[in-house]
Amino acid sequence: MAKKKEKKPSKPIKVHEYYKKEGDALKREKKSCPKCGAGTFMATHKNRSTCGKCHYCEFN
Ligand SMILES: [Zn+2]
Repeated sequence: MAKKKEKKPSKPIKVHEYYKKEGDALKREKKSCPKCGAGTFMATHKNRSTCGKCHYCEFN
């Protein structure tokens, strides 16, 4: 029997929160994925950062 999956409302990504303003320049707070390029931010976990796009994982 197929069960209908309830769709979770996806949260919008607040990219502006990933930048920090330092004077006139913007500083990146989060790492960007080396595989996907500068437009992708990596999620930071306790001991690692992961890319949600390509699942690239970097351990600290
Ligand atoms: Zn990536």
